[in-house]
Parts: sequence; structure tokens; C-alpha cells
Amino acid sequence: MIFELLKQQRRCRLRARPFPKEWLELIQCHVVFFRRLSTSDRVELLGHVQVFLAEKRFEGCGGFAITDEVRVTIAAQACLLLLHRRTEYFPGLLTILVYPLTYMVEEKRQIGEHLWEEGTVSRLGETGRRMGSLVLSWGAIKHGAADPSDGKNVVLHEFAHQLDFENQAADGVPELATREQQLAWSAVMRSEFASLRAADESGIPTLLDTYGATDPAEFFAVSVEAFFERPRALRARHPKLYAALQNYFQQDPVEYSAETLGEERMSS
Ligand SMILES: [Zn+2]
Repeated sequence: MIFELLKQQRRCRLRARPFPKEWLELIQCHVVFFRRLSTSDRVELLGHVQVFLAEKRFEGCGGFAITDEVRVTIAAQACLLLLHRRTEYFPGLLTILVYPLTYMVEEKRQIGEHLWEEGTVSRLGETGRRMGSLVLSWGAIKHGAADPSDGKNVVLHEFAHQLDFENQAADGVPELATREQQLAWSAVMRSEFASLRAADESGIPTLLDTYGATDPAEFFAVSVEAFFERPRALRARHPKLYAALQNYFQQDPVEYSAETLGEERMSS
């Protein structure tokens, strides 16, 4: 109890600290969505960034050097997921590992009922419930920050997994306050996940990345990417999914999105 109180007081002090000018310039320069947020959301986001940077460790991998630009570009994007809600700042996450570009991992994948294939695959990011860490590629982080409406953002994707882990399971269900909210969430996600799987199997074009058809955890992560990056299209084509995410995140990205609904985008 005392520990919890001290932690909350420390976070309060961190949020109220003057935000370093150099960090603000980096965010304004590299994180495009930041300029479109309301003044109060910008202030709230910067407060969260202060706590995030004080509590998380960063490590460079593959010869990559961690700079303030790297730290604030990751923090500003991750903290977008925390606005307007009570938050514990991704409590299971201690360390963020950053590679310069994509990185290679050994992977065993099932390609048939009793058939497995082993090989090396390239990745942009990953995290796991028991890892205590999250891995990202700097190339993908920068790309996500520079284009806030192409539907892809590796930081939002991996930190969405961290939100999913907050209720102790990697099941596509983040921490929800009441049983009613859990039931409503499950009903929407089950039906939307089934639709994405069906569309993926029959080759029908989808707004959501079909990687989300892998399992409910990936479905949640790609839905979060679409919610923040393609909110108008998601709201038009998946209104129930949009409403469920809007209710959880307590924000409406349509209000600050740079998304345009051109013909090419609507048909994709
Ligand atoms: Zn994922």
C-alpha cells in the first residue's frame, strides 16, 4: 500500500516536471500525429512520456546506439495508447531492445497437420507475455512515426500486445473493468475475428491486416493499428469493432487523424 502510494506520487512528480526542450523538438519533428493532437492531449502525452522514460530501460542490439531521438520516438508513440485512462505504464515490460533494421530469428512454423518447417525469418518487432522485454527495429519505428495513416505501426502493434498481457493472458482481451464489458468485448471480437479469418481464407481484400487472422492476440494488435492509423475507414467498415476500441481507449482518433479516404484506400 505504501509502496503503491509512493509510486503514484513519484509518477505525479515526473508528469509535472518541465518537459526537456530538446525532447519536445524531437517529437515535433519525428512523430507526425503529435502535431494533430489537442493541446490538453499533448500535455497529457508528454507527462506519460516522462514516466515511461524514467521507468523503462533501453538497450541497443546489433551495434545500434540508443539516443534521445530513439527513446522519445518510441515513448511518444507507445504513450498514445495510454491517454485518457488510468494506467500502470505497461507493468510487465522492463526493457526495450532496439535493432537498427529488421533482425533475423530462427523460427519453426507449422505448414501442415504434421509438417513443420524450420528457417530464418526477418522481424520488425516482437514481445511476449513472459519476456519482460519488447524488441523493435529502428527503421520500422521511424517509418511508423513519419506516416501516421498507412495502417502500419510496429510500436502501436507491440505495445498493444503489452496491454493485452495486463489481464495475465495473451488472448486479445485487455483489462476491462466489469464482467459486462468483458462479455460485450468478447462478442464483438469473436465475430470480427471470424470474419477476418473467412476473408483471409477466401482471398477477399480486407482493411485489417490479415496477419490478425493468426489468433485473437494478433487480431487485437492489428485492430489497434487500424484504430489509430485508419480510424475513418475502420469506423465505416467495422463500426462495432471501432466502438469497442473507442470505449476501451476512451479516445476517438478520427478527431486528429491525417487519414484520407481516397478510392485506392477504400478498395484495399
Ligand atoms: Zn503481434
